[in-house]
Amino acid sequence: MNSPRRWLILVFLVALCLGALPCRAQTWKLATFENREYVPLNDVADFYELRLLTGGPAGSIQLVSPGRSLRGSISSKEFYVQGIKFILSFPLLAFGDAIYLSRNDLTKLVEPVLRPHRLRNLGAVRTIILDPGHGGHDRGAVSPFGTESEFTLDVAYRVRDLLLKKRGYRIEMTRKDDTFISLEDRTRIANRFRDSGLFISIHFNAGSGIGTGIETYLMAPRLVPSYNGDGAPTLAELQQWQGNAHDPENMALATAMHAALLNRLPLDDRGIKRARFHVLRENQLPAVLVEGGFLSNADEARRISFPAYRQAMAEAIVMAIDNFKIATAEAATPDAAPLARSAPAAPAGPYSDEIETMLRQPPSPPGTGPKVSVPTSN
Ligand SMILES: [Zn+2]
Repeated sequence: MNSPRRWLILVFLVALCLGALPCRAQTWKLATFENREYVPLNDVADFYELRLLTGGPAGSIQLVSPGRSLRGSISSKEFYVQGIKFILSFPLLAFGDAIYLSRNDLTKLVEPVLRPHRLRNLGAVRTIILDPGHGGHDRGAVSPFGTESEFTLDVAYRVRDLLLKKRGYRIEMTRKDDTFISLEDRTRIANRFRDSGLFISIHFNAGSGIGTGIETYLMAPRLVPSYNGDGAPTLAELQQWQGNAHDPENMALATAMHAALLNRLPLDDRGIKRARFHVLRENQLPAVLVEGGFLSNADEARRISFPAYRQAMAEAIVMAIDNFKIATAEAATPDAAPLARSAPAAPAGPYSDEIETMLRQPPSPPGTGPKVSVPTSN
């Protein structure tokens, strides 16, 4: 890994732990494009006290402040926070003089990533559910050096040993040996700990030979396409699944996990992505699924076969749990951020949050710009 990236990731971990960021009270100017709500990046910049820089090459934009950097491109879903790659639910849009971020990406990506201490729907984390992918007749991806099912079990045991030795967590494993466990049984085990646990599914990837790098998956929010969606809305997208109860917490956990994996493993960043895998969809806990490299790639398969690599991956998972706990620790304490004093009390509900509260405010009077309709092109 080159050193600038490692530096950025370290800064990112620190940023996640900083606690309250200064934020301003404001009214968000919602706009509607193709029946979807967006907010101007100017509003995002004002709220988080970032500077919006536009006009870069190929429509690139940046939101920056000392110590923080968000960047993306118009019409693109690729979005970087402190150098970590995220895949937005919807591309950034340009309309008139403004650039827009979807409301979904504001509340379920930017907000939990920049202010994880404000997550409201999180119990005390006492149990870690480790889910080694595959097992038994389902060997998963296969390399000349071994199978996905044996490597994921090995990583899970390493995480368990690291966590058990050094920390006071209760550890549950969805499988402890080379047996087949159905996806339904995996989430059934997890959901017994829905008020006190985190769920981490461990996998290795396979692709058509050129695939390389690390990716972290979290549940796709309602009305958001899966990473491999072809653009046509599916029935699954219309439904609110159990895994959606923790959309913001899922993102905070995925961010901590992905940053730690990139920090410890020398592989490319494929990004944090949305999916509706069974273990994410039917999970009542904050949940992520990590893909720790490609068994179909000769070089990565060889690395994964080394115990030192799997130990580093296990250490990254432990580091991520630590960082997630530190970053979200202030959720239970009175909030000292200026906005909290001026915003209405947060409404009850699975995801109560000041941005959601502000977004529910009545729209600005006609003529002030926010309600924009754009004809759909297809
Ligand atoms: Zn797998």
